[in-house]
Amino acid sequence: MAELLPLTPAGEGAAPEPFKAGSCKLHPQTMCPAFGALRVLSRIEGAQPAMITDTGCLYGLTFVTHFYAARKSIVAPQLGTAELSSGKVQEAANAAIAEAAKEQNVSVIPVLSLCVAETAGLSEELLPTEVDGKPVVLVRVPAYAIHSHPEAKDIALAAVMRRFIDSASVQEPHSLVLLGEVFPADPLIIDGVVRKMGGRVITTLPGRHVNELKLAGQAAAVATLHPFYRETVGVLRARGVGVVSGAPIGVEGSAAWIRAVGAALDLDEDVVERVASEEEAAARGFLSTQPLKGTTIMISGYEGNEMLYARLLVEGGAHVPYVSTSIGQSMLTAGDEAWLKAHGCEAVVYRKAIEDDMAAMKHWTFDLVIGTTTLAAHAKELGIPAVYYTNMLSVRPLFLAGGMIASLSFVRELLGRRPLYERMVDFFGARRDETFA
Ligand code: SF4
Repeated sequence: MAELLPLTPAGEGAAPEPFKAGSCKLHPQTMCPAFGALRVLSRIEGAQPAMITDTGCLYGLTFVTHFYAARKSIVAPQLGTAELSSGKVQEAANAAIAEAAKEQNVSVIPVLSLCVAETAGLSEELLPTEVDGKPVVLVRVPAYAIHSHPEAKDIALAAVMRRFIDSASVQEPHSLVLLGEVFPADPLIIDGVVRKMGGRVITTLPGRHVNELKLAGQAAAVATLHPFYRETVGVLRARGVGVVSGAPIGVEGSAAWIRAVGAALDLDEDVVERVASEEEAAARGFLSTQPLKGTTIMISGYEGNEMLYARLLVEGGAHVPYVSTSIGQSMLTAGDEAWLKAHGCEAVVYRKAIEDDMAAMKHWTFDLVIGTTTLAAHAKELGIPAVYYTNMLSVRPLFLAGGMIASLSFVRELLGRRPLYERMVDFFGARRDETFA
């Protein structure tokens, strides 16, 4: 690992005045929310999305969905100004659904109704519920009603689950559903821990097949690893599935989560306590070195799981005064927000805009910025180590002791890159001076 330069001494990054969020909210940093719904739906085997919107949205959304490996076509009507003003949205939607039904191996046709279709008055009552025996499910995700792409994932998943969960299916005792798009190794590691206590993970949502959605309805409890699946939790709760909020994050979070899962799955208390203590001991061993002590770090993202990373950094010894996210505040975010505020975090900003993040950059002195593309670019210009939240953090394990060690070791390495960023600022500063001399 690269040698670290002296970093901001603990407390030095703190400013005397309370932080004020940016007053302008006109530039929220989130992509079109419908992307979240498309991402979840296009990954379900046999789901053939039909997207009802105008040509402009279609271009951007199909581009980004294929960039993220949709590996299937998205059927959509040609809706330009002429078609929209002629009032043919309903007919165009029905024709697109009929076309989607002709694709190979279709098990469900999710119909995404976006801003334009909603404004033009697409009517649920006039859509088919089934075409050639293939279920049609309406997914309403206009940006004026759904404000972030993580929350659109939730709306999409809940809509399809409502159609597929069998209300007559029998609950499997001691079984757990994980809810959240997580690093692929995380569910395996969590399942290993749950099995040590006598339970098991039966599936992880959003799934890759409608059978996984059906299976979720048979679970004894659902663990909401990500805090924005409110509609999906509602669907499962209505089936009598217990809810464990929070995630196995860091020392305190992991032990509390293991105990909560034990209680929700009705597992042997002594065994649960032993497993929780083992995990706690493994994590504390690593944390005893306080790998991030003396650093001040900013977290800003639009994935909806920013508070989980902030908790890890705090346990690693960092000061994390500011966390921002695109998702809204809810009961599912309450636990992490309370924990962060009790551990030195001064501002948790929901539905953030770039102005909030820029105000935070002025208010505190950061040693590392983990943020959105725009923010990371701004930090780099200032010579502050910075990385793009989604690509760098979401590709590593996060949960339990193993995830904590992987994530904190990576952050420690990032902090060591400060000399590189300072050299970069010097280099471009010198070139600029030469150019304008
Ligand atoms: S108009 Fe609405 S659906 Fe279309 S790209 Fe913009 S936010 Fe997304």
